[in-house]
Formats: sequence, structure tokens, C-alpha cells
Amino acid sequence: MKGPIFWLIWDGAASSVTRRLLDEGRLPTLARLARGGVSAATRPTFPNCQTPPSLATLLTGVSPTKHGITGFHIPATGFDSPVTARRSAFDRTALHASPLWNDATEAGRPTAVVHLPWTEVGETGPTYAAEAFSRRIARAGAIPIDNRVTIGPYELTLEIDDGSLTITPPVGPPSTLRGEDVRRSIAVQFDRGIGGVLRAWRRPADGARFLLSHGAWEVRTSPVDGLAALEEAAGPFVGDGLGRLYRHGVFGPRLDQDGDGDAEAILLVGIEALADHFRKASAHALGRVGREAFSVLYQPCIDAVEHELFGWCEPYAPGLSDRAWAGVELVYRMADRHLADVLARAGPDATVIVASDHGMAGIRWNVHVNEILRRGGLLAFGPDGGIDLARSQIVYHPANNGSLWVNTKPRPEGIVEPEECPGVIARAAPLLRGVRLTPDGPEVFTKIYPLDEPPCAWSETFGDLFLATLDGVHLRASPGPDGAILAPAHKSAAHLTHSAQSSLHGIFFAQGPGFTPGRDLGLIELEEVAPLVRHCLHPSRPGHFTCQT
Ligand SMILES: [Zn+2]
Repeated sequence: MKGPIFWLIWDGAASSVTRRLLDEGRLPTLARLARGGVSAATRPTFPNCQTPPSLATLLTGVSPTKHGITGFHIPATGFDSPVTARRSAFDRTALHASPLWNDATEAGRPTAVVHLPWTEVGETGPTYAAEAFSRRIARAGAIPIDNRVTIGPYELTLEIDDGSLTITPPVGPPSTLRGEDVRRSIAVQFDRGIGGVLRAWRRPADGARFLLSHGAWEVRTSPVDGLAALEEAAGPFVGDGLGRLYRHGVFGPRLDQDGDGDAEAILLVGIEALADHFRKASAHALGRVGREAFSVLYQPCIDAVEHELFGWCEPYAPGLSDRAWAGVELVYRMADRHLADVLARAGPDATVIVASDHGMAGIRWNVHVNEILRRGGLLAFGPDGGIDLARSQIVYHPANNGSLWVNTKPRPEGIVEPEECPGVIARAAPLLRGVRLTPDGPEVFTKIYPLDEPPCAWSETFGDLFLATLDGVHLRASPGPDGAILAPAHKSAAHLTHSAQSSLHGIFFAQGPGFTPGRDLGLIELEEVAPLVRHCLHPSRPGHFTCQT
């Protein structure tokens, strides 16, 4: 009898934050796991450490060059599309390597995969799977309350009474939301596999009332007939913690705008709904597969809070530090609760792994790369702010994954002859090197690949040039405000291109047969996590990297 393997992925969990919270005794469940097994910090993927490349490396053990996921959006490399063309990284055919749950299937184990990208959902693939992120129907939003409101293609009828709201969705019975406490929510069904979580909120500044929607996605499951049971157990999919609304000031002034904390309180309510949904979905999945299963479970709440608050913890906003940190800590504890649910199912023969795909980096400045090229006469914007390819020799790619591409012929709308390509790069590089935060400060771009470093782990899938930035600087493809190259960042934190910044380091904790209790593996590469997990699937097979090391 093989013991079960539970692998919980905490998106965005940073080693530095996790270590501090463990030292302060704030993550009791993870502390238990750490005492009984091994721990490590993980170095993020190179050269891009956005979520899709990082998750793909975590799940396959190979670098972005090999698995082909080069950012949130993947620039098209062929000559059959314009240089600015791109596709979604979550397209299942974009992944050119095999995720570990396929190894588990080969090893004869049942598998459960909960809300991870690239999952095959249907008759083949994992024994149990749930997936929704690839099919978003509507973004999260704050919708002024009226008798009729629309969410994506769905129209809802509202009956407004003094203290309550009765909402009639296109399918299913009406639901009533009582009172104006934003912490209360209702679940409504829009269609088969599509639903939403809604809250009522009154804006303190003017008393206007809004329906807060967490967005809508189409959920699919394997087996197909498992959908109703999942909806029953976990409610409609909650894929958004309302972070974008918070960031744009919808909930009022934020901490960095002298807010009093009310906006953050709503953000944390939203993120708690996100955390709870994934916890419930994974509990449901674990109940659907046998004891010997290999289960991969996703939890996005930490990434969601860190994008909004991490940058103010330190070092850029000392005055906000404590209040921002309290929010971050609260959400790490939500993830710890998810782990507690998993550990409650794990007997002594179980292997339990908690790993993240990347950490987080505070940002203070946006650098609008295409403004640099425009000022140097190498690029032009069209009237709509898009890149005018007929007048652009090289572009910072709108995929915003760190890469620049020469607009070569014979691509559609290409204007540079292939033999002129080195000349265009030679004109662009000094323009990029000339950008500094202050006249005497260091260059904003710390590395321009492959000019500054041998092209190790490099391929043409990362463009003609690729940028690494100073800490605190975030890349943008859009025109700068009033043509500015550098502008204050709106987002508090991000993870885009690889840098030496240690806050980008992720986490790895594993407990079970074969893992030495209390052992600290130090700093390992993200690529090394999958071989460790794979070894647990084939304990008898000699591996180059055993669980004992
Ligand atoms: Zn993220």
C-alpha cells in the first residue's frame, strides 16, 4: 500500500515572509510540517518569474526555455504573425513539458488536480480534476445597484428593499442578501458550471450602493458528472479577491493615500472568500480520490494580498509597514488553515509538500520601455496608444514579459530586413542603458540579455533582448503618462523578471517517508522541486536527487 502524497501550492509565498512568520509562531501548521520534514528557499525561474512560467517549472521540473511558458502572455515567435502577436500562457497546448500528475498516473496512482493550469479535464487526464481559470466569463467588479444589473453576458433582476436585496439570476431561484454588511455574501448561479459570489456595499463617501462581484468563470470537472457535487461543496468559483478594485481606489483611499484601513478591510474580506473557496474545493477533491492518490492543490490567496500590500511592508513605505504587514500575515494564516485541513487527512505514511512558485518584490516605479524606444526614433505609438508597427523597428513586447523584439521581415507588418537586425539592436541598447532613476544613480536595467551575459538558459523564445531591472522598478509596455519613461507605480508589488532580490525566493517544505525531519536544504533552484516530488512517486527507483539529500 502506497501512502498518499498531498502537494499544496501556495502561490507567491515568499521565503522571507514565511520564515519571519514561522519565527513569530504565526503559522502553527506549517511549523509542524517544518519540524517533521525538510525545508528550503527556492530561487525563481530565469529569466521571467511571472506565475505561469514559475508554475510550469514547479510542475514539470524544467526551465521556461524547455517548457515554453515565457510569461503571462507568450509572444508569438513565428514569421506568420505580427511581432506584437501573443497567446495566453494558460492555453493547454502552450506547455511543452509533462506535469508531474502524469508521472503519478504512470506510476499507477489515482490523481487529484485542483485549479492548476494545463489540466486535462474530461474523459482522460487526472482521476479527479477541477479547472476554471482558463475560462473567465466576467471580471470582478463594483456594479452600481439598480433594478437590473449585468455580469458578463448575464442579466440579474434586483428587488431593492430598505435593508435587503433580492437577486434573481437567469437560472435558479432568487436569493436575498440582508443588511449592508460587506462581509455577507450570496452565491448565485448564472448557467451550468457558471456562478458568482456577490456582496452589497454602501460607499461611505456618498452613500451610493454597489454590488461587489468576485467575477464569473466556467468550472469544468473530471469526471464530468462531478460538477454539481463540487458546486454543492464549494459554491461558485471565486477566482478573484477584489484586489484590482482595491488597487484602483474603488474602496476609498488606500493606506498609501492616508486611508484609515477601511479599504484594506474590504480587500481582506475579498481575499478570505478566495482562500476559503480553494480550501473547500480541495477538501472536496480529496474526498473523491482513493487513499493512494497524488493530489496537487492550488491556493492563490498569498499572491493576491502580496500584490496589493507587500511593497508597503518594506523597504519603500516605512510608515505603513505595520498595518500592511498585519494584512499580509492574516492571509498567510488563511493558507495555513488550508494546510491544516490537508494535514488532518494525512496519516503517518503520507507525504505532505507545501511549495510556492515565486516570492514577491515591492515596486515603486514603472519604466515605460517603449517610451525609451520612441524617444530614440525606433518606435511610434498609434492614436489609440498601441504600437504603430509600420513605424517601429523594435518593440518592448505588449506581452510584458521582459522581452524586446526586432520588427523583422517577412513577418506581417515587419519593416526591418533580417540583415539589419544587429544594427537595430546596437541602436536600442545604448538608449536602454541611458535610463537612470536619478542623474547620478545606477542604470534602471541591471542586465540586458543576451548582451551582458552568455546566453545560458537562453533561447530565441525570449526575444532579441531581455531586460532585468533594478529592485523596485517594474516593466510596462504601455505609453507612459504624458510620455514619461518613469512614473510612480500604482501596484505595490510584482514578480516579473528574475533578479538577485531575495524577496523573490519561494518556499519548499516536505514531510513524509524519505524526508529527514528538521533538515534545512538552504537555497535550491525551483527546477529542483519536481525531481524531489518525482522521487516520492517512485521511491524504489534510484534518482539523481533523492529525498534523503
Ligand atoms: Zn502574482
